[in-house]
Amino acid sequence: MNISIQDLTKIYGNGHKALKSVNLEIENGMFGLLGANGAGKSTLMRILVSLMKPSSGKVLVNGKELIKNRKDIRAITGYLPQDFSAFPKLKAWEFLDYSARLGGVKDKRKRRDAIDEMLEEVGLFEVRERFANKLSGGMKRRLGIAQALIGEPQIIIVDEPTTGLDPDERIRFRNLLTKISSNDVVIILSTHIVGDISSTCNQMALLKSGKVVYNGSPEALINKADGKVWRIHASHEQFDEVNVNFNVISTIPSVGGWELDVVADRVNGYNAEQLAPNLEHAYVYYMEHQTEKIF
Ligand code: ADP
Repeated sequence: MNISIQDLTKIYGNGHKALKSVNLEIENGMFGLLGANGAGKSTLMRILVSLMKPSSGKVLVNGKELIKNRKDIRAITGYLPQDFSAFPKLKAWEFLDYSARLGGVKDKRKRRDAIDEMLEEVGLFEVRERFANKLSGGMKRRLGIAQALIGEPQIIIVDEPTTGLDPDERIRFRNLLTKISSNDVVIILSTHIVGDISSTCNQMALLKSGKVVYNGSPEALINKADGKVWRIHASHEQFDEVNVNFNVISTIPSVGGWELDVVADRVNGYNAEQLAPNLEHAYVYYMEHQTEKIF
C-alpha cells in the first residue's frame, strides 16, 4: 500500500485555509499525524476518506487517483472519525455486521467469525447483545474502533482515536494497531497527544496551521532536540524568572527550590545539566524554534 498526497490544499467556504500545499508519501505501517487542535488533521483525514474534496492537489492510492476511484478505495478503507458517537439502533454485534458488509465481507459465516474476534479484541464480547446507542462512552469509543478495523481494511484512518479511552484501553488499542500494521496495511493515526505517536509509529508528520513542518521518523525528530533539553536547578527566587524565560516541560520541587526541565538553545547563567530528549521535548522544541524559520 502506498498513499501519495500531492500539493493538497483546502480552503473552506469562509475563506479559511485549513491545508496549505501538503505533500506526504505514506507507506505500509503506522503513520502518525501530530498537531495541535485546529492544525488541519481532521480536514486531511476527511479528504483521505472521500468525505470532502480538496480545493486543489490530489491523493493517489497505489498510483490510482482517489477522486476517480472513490468507491473502490472507500471499500478497502476503515475510518474512525473524531466525533464518532451517533449509532443507529442496532445491537453491538449487528452494528459490526453492518460495517463488515460495507467493508465487503459477503460470506455470513466469515462475518460472524470476524465480528466475534473483533468484539473480543476490543473487550465488548460480553455486551454484544446490547444496543450500541445504550453503551457507555468508553464502550462506544471501542465499538467505533471495532467498526473501523473490521473487514481487514488495507487503509485505516483513525482520527484522535484515544480520546475517551482510559490508560489501559489506550495500551490495548495501540497493541491492536501494531498487530495489524505488520500486514500490507497503511494506518494513519491523527492525534494531538505526543504519547500516542512515540511508541507505535515508524513515520510521522507534524502539522502546524495547515502546513507540514516535519516529515520523517520519530527518532530523527528526537535527534533534532539533542543538546536542547536542560534540567535547571532553580532557587525559589528564580522560579518565576525561569517560567517566563523558558519553555518549561516539567516542574518538580526539590530541596531548597525546583527542578525545571526546559527546552532551549542555551540556559546561560543557571545551574543546569543537559538531558536526553524524548519525543515530547522534540515536539515542543521543533514547534517553537524550527518552524519559526519556515514561516
Ligand atoms: P484539527 O483536526 O487538527 O483539530 P481541523 O481540520 O478540524 O483541525 O480544522 C482546521 C482548521 O479549519 C481550524 O481552524 C478549523 O476551525 C477550520 N475548520 C474546520 N472545519 C471547518 C469548516 N467546515 N468551515 C470553516 N472552517 C473550518
